[in-house]
Amino acid sequence: MPFISSDSTAPSPALDRESLRPDCGNCFALCCTALGFSRTTDFAIDKPAGTPCQNLASDFSCTIHDRLRPRGFRGCTVFDCFGAGQNVSQNLFQGISWKADSATAKDMFPAFKVVRQLHEMLWYLAEAISKTFDPDTSHHVNELRMTIENALAETQQVLSLDLGDMHARVRSVLMGVSEEVRSSYLATGDDHLDAALVPGVDLIGKKMRSRSLCGADLRGAYLIATDLRDCDLSGADLLGADLRDARLEGADLSKTLYLTQAQLNAAQGDAHTRLPSDLNSPTHWPDNS
Ligand code: SF4
Repeated sequence: MPFISSDSTAPSPALDRESLRPDCGNCFALCCTALGFSRTTDFAIDKPAGTPCQNLASDFSCTIHDRLRPRGFRGCTVFDCFGAGQNVSQNLFQGISWKADSATAKDMFPAFKVVRQLHEMLWYLAEAISKTFDPDTSHHVNELRMTIENALAETQQVLSLDLGDMHARVRSVLMGVSEEVRSSYLATGDDHLDAALVPGVDLIGKKMRSRSLCGADLRGAYLIATDLRDCDLSGADLLGADLRDARLEGADLSKTLYLTQAQLNAAQGDAHTRLPSDLNSPTHWPDNS
């Protein structure tokens, strides 16, 4: 289990997101079976949820893994299960696949969808606890983490969880930490942020090259194909922001809040894009070094 602490009053354990990274070799290809997708620019085919993708091999590998983008499956290269796949496959279902026992699929596929969301929450909470200086917030984050980790111990607990309530509780603490972090940037910054930079703002295709966006609250913002080249996004909250095809070449994202690998995978960047230390440069980005 990720970063377990049995005592919410104990000092915060070190940030550990390793168990929240995908380990496809220990997963029964749950993203390629449990989830459905429609034919779009991201997927070349329609695939109903709960059915294996036509490109799935018998050993749960993808037969077109090294040419997903040219074959029209860009969505597969963007997706991140936050380690839910291996947790469901190996822990909740003890290594018994939906192929070995078809009866497991009834609970395994819905469980995967819930566990993915819980792992995503843990990903964000790990960041929140690493960035807050408020002991009460740390305590609250630890309590939430334990609640989620306890729920992850058993399939029926996962399936009966009030996900909406959990989302609301996590969102509240993430927003509190965001305010704490961003206020430190806004208090010391020389630049005045554009008042239009609010959560959910539509900046699709906008040219914002070289702007300082330090401390901006871009939660849920539409940054599709936005030109963010050479921008400084230190302390900017990017929770749930849509970064598809956003231009990130030369941008500094090393101190952003709530950035995920999936957001990066959907964007365009290069070797000059500065990233947080626990995120990777996507393999399809050109290496300009
Ligand atoms: S194309 Fe490959 S990675 Fe994408 S869903 Fe199908 S089997 Fe999985």
